[in-house]
Amino acid sequence: MTSQIITIDGPSASGKSSVSRELARRLGWKWVSTGAFYRGLAFVAMKEDVKSSDTQGLVQLAANPVWEVRMDDDQTRVLYKKQDVTFEILAEENGTRASQISQNPEVREALLQNQRDCASYVPGLVAEGRDCGTVVFPNALLKVFLTASQEERAARRAKEQGLDVQATHDRQKERDRQDSSRAAAPLAIPKNARVVDSNGLQLSEVVDQIQGWVVEALASPNGNA
Ligand code: C5P
Repeated sequence: MTSQIITIDGPSASGKSSVSRELARRLGWKWVSTGAFYRGLAFVAMKEDVKSSDTQGLVQLAANPVWEVRMDDDQTRVLYKKQDVTFEILAEENGTRASQISQNPEVREALLQNQRDCASYVPGLVAEGRDCGTVVFPNALLKVFLTASQEERAARRAKEQGLDVQATHDRQKERDRQDSSRAAAPLAIPKNARVVDSNGLQLSEVVDQIQGWVVEALASPNGNA
């Protein structure tokens, strides 16, 4: 069975996880935050003393069963030595670490198949990240690029994690710059993607919009909206 796949890409804190979770719930599909692979590897590398400049060490660690990514309905979880470290990997400073190692094409390649495997044995998958529509699932049924102003995204993340808004803003800006300017699979709007600017929109309004496109795509003869 080939899974139906929807990709949602966008910059940090653009609401990709909340939108993907709700969309998948409505469709009865699974969802995955592909950032968990980069965040998980960055966190485990720190714990195992593997430097972000050590490509071979990172590639080996990517395949090490000491850690795994699990698609739960509420969250994409990371387990390290059988402990749930999801909360720890979501810290903004680990996001910065993830962004550093994600510049490395060999690290990206080492994490690619595991991301693709998320589409096995599920009725459908909503995959969110930076390169889901461009690299991980180029044949997705529907591709969405979700964005919001830098100010709104920083305010959301700061509120979520109890952080200072200005410091969060500066950190996100740097991470977005790094993610968009890297040579390997940079953050970019995929060809044929639908762009949603969520400024001032409720979560349900964003999901309604995307769900409408999913219904259209599923009904169209060639499977693409
Ligand atoms: O989406 P999230 O903020 O969890 O991603 C953390 C970091 O992982 C991003 O800033 C980016 O550098 C990297 N990432 C990536 N490709 C993806 C998902 C995340 O390079 N598909």
